Amino acid sequence: MKGQKECPSCAMMVSEKANVCPVCQYEFPAQSKGMRWLALALLIALILLFVFRYL
Ligand SMILES: [Zn+2]
Repeated sequence: MKGQKECPSCAMMVSEKANVCPVCQYEFPAQSKGMRWLALALLIALILLFVFRYL
């Protein structure tokens, strides 16, 4: 189904956006690539900020 994913713990269909299964409280691992890239970009920005601060 669109916008839904299966919980590997209890096999229930839950919302794609859910971080935790509402049925069994299973915690889904970080999913979307977009979020990963955003986190990476933030990390790089932070490192650059530190580097330029101490130059
Ligand atoms: Zn579950």
